[in-house]
Parts: sequence; C-alpha cells; structure tokens
Amino acid sequence: MITDNTKKPLLAGVIGHPIDHSKSPKLHNYWLSTHNINGFYIPLDIKPQDLTKSIESLVMLGFRGVNVTIPHKVSVLSIADTATDRASMIGAANTLYFNKDGKVTADNTDGYGFKQNIKSVDPMWNAKVGPAVVFGAGGAAKAVIHSLLSEGVPLVRILNRTRIKAEMIAENLGNRVEVIDWYAIKEALNGATTIINTTSLGMLGQPTFEPDLSNVSSDARVIDLVYNPIETDFLKIAKKCGLKTIDGIGMLFFQAEPGFKNWFNAAPVVDEKLRALFLNE
Ligand code: NAP
Repeated sequence: MITDNTKKPLLAGVIGHPIDHSKSPKLHNYWLSTHNINGFYIPLDIKPQDLTKSIESLVMLGFRGVNVTIPHKVSVLSIADTATDRASMIGAANTLYFNKDGKVTADNTDGYGFKQNIKSVDPMWNAKVGPAVVFGAGGAAKAVIHSLLSEGVPLVRILNRTRIKAEMIAENLGNRVEVIDWYAIKEALNGATTIINTTSLGMLGQPTFEPDLSNVSSDARVIDLVYNPIETDFLKIAKKCGLKTIDGIGMLFFQAEPGFKNWFNAAPVVDEKLRALFLNE
C-alpha cells in the first residue's frame, strides 16, 4: 500500500480498564508498519463511568473504531447504535466500527477468530463430524459455541464449574446444545471430535487444567483459548495422548482481522513471522 502523508493518520485503539496487559497495540501496530499505513493504534484506559463520554469523544476526534476489552464488552452494546447479529446473539462486543455518519456499530469477532485459527492450522477440520466439548461458560465460550453451531456441529456439550451459567447459555440454543456436569468429563468426552478449553484455567497465575484425555478419540482436535502461556498443560496432555492441538495465539490474531480491515482498509497477514514475534516475547 502506498502511504499518502498529506492525509491525516488513520486512528484506532483498544478501550479497557486496566489496559496495560493488552496485546492488541503490539499486533495492530506491527500490521500498520508492515503495510506501511499512515495510522496509529492506541491503548486507552477508560473507567466504566467514563465509557459513554469517551466513545463520543473518540468518534468526534475522528477515530475509525476501537477494540473493546474487560470490563466494557457487555456495556458497549447498549451504547452502540447498531450491532451485528453475532454480537447481539453473544450479548457482548469486542470491536466497534465508527461509521462515516457518526454512528457506532458493535461487533463480536471472537467466534470468527476461533474458527479461522483452526482452519489456518488444520484445513481438514470439520465441525460436522462429531460432538464438541466446551469447557467454560463465560464470554469466550458463548462466541465459540455460536461459531461451532454456525459450522454445523451436531452437538455441543458444555461443562462449567458454575452449572447455571452453562444452562443459561444452552437455554435458547435448541437441542444441539446440552449441559454436562463439570465432573462428568469422561462422559462428556465420549466420541467428541472437537474439544475446547474456554476457561481461564491454565492461564499464567491461574490453576492448571489437566483433564484425563486418555480415552479421547484419536481424530479429535484439542484447542485452548489460553495463550499465556502458549503451550498450556492441557495441550501438553493432549499431545502426549497423540492428539492434534491448536493453541490460542492464532485466535488472538484472527479476531483482530475484521477490525483492522475496517479501520485501515487493508487485509492483515497472519503468518509465521507474526507468530514468532509473539512467541519470542
Ligand atoms: P470469563 O467470561 O471471565 O469466563 C471465565 C470462565 O473460566 C468461566 O467459565 C469460569 O467458570 C471459568 N473458570 C475460572 N476459574 C475457574 C476455576 N478455578 N475452575 C473452573 N473454572 C474456572 O472469561 P472469558 O472472556 O470467557 O475468557 C476465558 C479465557 O479465554 C481467558 O483465558 C481468556 O484470555 C481466553 N480468551 C482468549 C481469546 C483468544 O483470542 N485466544 C479470546 C477470548 C478469550 P465459572 O463460570 O464457574 O466462574
């Protein structure tokens, strides 16, 4: 892309509180420099009580949009003028597009990032061939479940420490989604072909996640959304059992793609060079 320095820089960012931990600035600024785009992606620490005013100000300042992280993912939906179907269904947004008419559209790209990541690593993956098991029932789980359903999965079994949260997700999703007790792991894994950890277990500073995967079918894919560390104990166990594994860092890259395309008018590249940049942190 040719840079036109006579034009104003394109602006986007990420809003959250706190925001220091976010890897999004490193990712988007890397893409901006590799595409030679005259733009900036800025981390913005915004307290919940300042959210509405801050979004109005960013629109006024000419920002193209922002990513949204904790604790604003649910509250931005009521501030946005419109929401994509997937953001409405999930009940949370991680991306805002500021349109030319000053209106704000909320989107949720986590489910997109989840499936693009699997397909990039494992093009033969097919959700339709067997049941999926989802550990966890938080925001990320909702996005993953919607994505699996849209890919034609025959059945999703959700297991969550707090069972009621899994039941609330399953409530309106029909008979392709069922809730299994958190401790009935063996039963849940029976015949499963896609197995996903969407809990924060295994994350740096959190307890580890080491379910028994010894009876899992040999063609199953085991996926962890946790990306810090990149190789979790959950994935190590799966590898020892001879199962195909997919880590969470690629999902982080792919969930960022729709925002970058919209704000900076360029298709970012997810490749080994990008992965190496994050692996060598
Ligand atoms: P969340 O809404 O806070 O949900 C957290 C989930 O973890 C809940 O199901 C919770 O169960 C479970 N959990 C937490 N501590 C637990 C414990 N000690 N034992 C059993 N279960 C426990 O968080 P989220 O936004 O869904 O994110 C979940 C994870 O996904 C995080 O590690 C996040 O970094 C990762 N993530 C990665 C990407 C990516 O791009 N790779 C994108 C989104 C999220 P309860 O309901 O019982 O509390």
